[in-house]
Amino acid sequence: MDRMHYTNGEDTNCRLCTRDPETHDHLFFTCRYSLQVWKYIQAKTHSRWPNLSWFSLVEWTSRRYQDTKSINNRIGALILAATVYYIWQERNRRIFQQLSQSVSTVGEAIFQVLRDQLMSNNGLSMADGTRAIWNIP
Ligand SMILES: [Zn+2]
Repeated sequence: MDRMHYTNGEDTNCRLCTRDPETHDHLFFTCRYSLQVWKYIQAKTHSRWPNLSWFSLVEWTSRRYQDTKSINNRIGALILAATVYYIWQERNRRIFQQLSQSVSTVGEAIFQVLRDQLMSNNGLSMADGTRAIWNIP
């Protein structure tokens, strides 16, 4: 029902774990590979996500994101967007290039791209604790 479409129409199992059928919920949240990526990024950024389905999480984040005065909410929305994006990229890399990266490689790439984004955003004033987490001087 929530299966994704493949152009080759063959194997519809998830490319990240190769075990379960690929749905949005599976790919981004319940896949054992994606869960490891989330765990990595949560540990590294000291953030926490509610255990929700894909659609409620998107809704939850957009509601939260409306409070743009809160730096933590903005960072939370950035983390969600980047992590989902990188999981999607990793899935496509495996399908179209037959290449795969480890959880820590993907997790580190997410962290670095977010760090660059936070550093280049001069409008954000971060607390010392937040700077320490992101290794921003
Ligand atoms: Zn999977």
